[in-house]
Amino acid sequence: MSTQIYHPAAILTAPDPMTLECHEREYIVVEEGIIEGIYRELPASFRHLPVEELEDCLLIPAFSDLHIHASQFTERGTGMDLLLFDWLNEYTFPQEASFQDVGYARKVYPQVIYELLKHGTMHAAFFTTIHYDACDLFWQMLQESGMYALSGKVNMDRNSPDYLCESTADSLRDTERFLQEHPSSEHLRAVLIPRFAPTCSEGLLKGLGELSRKYKAGLHTHLVESWAESAWTKELFPDYQTDGDIYDRLGLLGNGPAVFAHVIFPEERDLEVLKKYDACSVHCPDATVNVTAGIMPLKKLQDQGLKIALGTDIGGGHSPALYTQAARSVQESKIKEFYEGEGDRISFREAFYHATHEGGAVFGVTGQLKKGYRFNALALNGLEDGAVRHTPQELLERFCYLGDDRRIVGRWLDGKKIDPEEIRERISRL
Ligand SMILES: [Zn+2]
Repeated sequence: MSTQIYHPAAILTAPDPMTLECHEREYIVVEEGIIEGIYRELPASFRHLPVEELEDCLLIPAFSDLHIHASQFTERGTGMDLLLFDWLNEYTFPQEASFQDVGYARKVYPQVIYELLKHGTMHAAFFTTIHYDACDLFWQMLQESGMYALSGKVNMDRNSPDYLCESTADSLRDTERFLQEHPSSEHLRAVLIPRFAPTCSEGLLKGLGELSRKYKAGLHTHLVESWAESAWTKELFPDYQTDGDIYDRLGLLGNGPAVFAHVIFPEERDLEVLKKYDACSVHCPDATVNVTAGIMPLKKLQDQGLKIALGTDIGGGHSPALYTQAARSVQESKIKEFYEGEGDRISFREAFYHATHEGGAVFGVTGQLKKGYRFNALALNGLEDGAVRHTPQELLERFCYLGDDRRIVGRWLDGKKIDPEEIRERISRL
């Protein structure tokens, strides 16, 4: 059996929104990629094994990015002064259309996976495009990289530019083929990705509902991202109450994980659906500001027992570093409270929980450093001032506010140390 033992300055993990557990100078034992235990004193049965000293390092769970458009990666940080519809038409749609050429996907997608791993994200829910071959190539790259991911093929059969629109029949045929040819594994799961309700006809969503049942496929889409989107959806689907009502009644829920990006203006019916299916609502703090959508009522959703994860939402968001979104989430909760009154502010502990555990839970036993969990972990250092001694919790908070990938000095995926550059090289050859 392969066993590794690490002895860091501190192990930090968030088992619930209110707790940031800290184990100072304790040992973590990993067997076959799974955490066997965390010990103050090493049990006798492990004492003969070598220990890797990480005495200057914090050990934390790898991050989970539950909403990122892999296909918008090359436009990150550009066109950010535009409003949503101009940004979509001038940047996003033409960019996504380029993925018709699988050679273009081969250039872009290795960079997406590389940047995520470099910044410590090992679990992610991706949007791609409508193009089968590019989606298939991305899946192969994800598989080779070892990342944990939800991915699939995007659906758009109306209210989209001609050059980025499918017929209903083609969309359903290619989606079924994708589900047939990409069975789920421990690491990867194919999900349905209707872009958002206004770009999908009722017939398409109904067909996707049938595929969801037939192939036990989950769902990843945008939900009540803005007032305008919400009002437009109601106009297009007069027989349904809200976004959530549409996906529920057309059968897209209950057959796999449900991940909804943004959830900024949920109505009662949406909340009912989120609860019924134990869905994950994904807060994307940078994107919500860049596209001027509004701020998720995160605290209120959390207080109702709903699951919250964080997402970079590239290219609506600009940074692939999920940990920056934990900091931004706290900042935006304070702004929301400032303008809207008491009750919206969250603590850093809660934000870190959303960035690790809650997103990781979508992939099974990931997102925590705890017995029985996968050892998907990061070692951080170089965050001290020298003159002042900070607690490990303070150093972790500092990393999320002003750290970067240079502070990540070790990355383990399923217990194995990984090198993002080596992975990029390897997947670029697929
Ligand atoms: Zn998005």
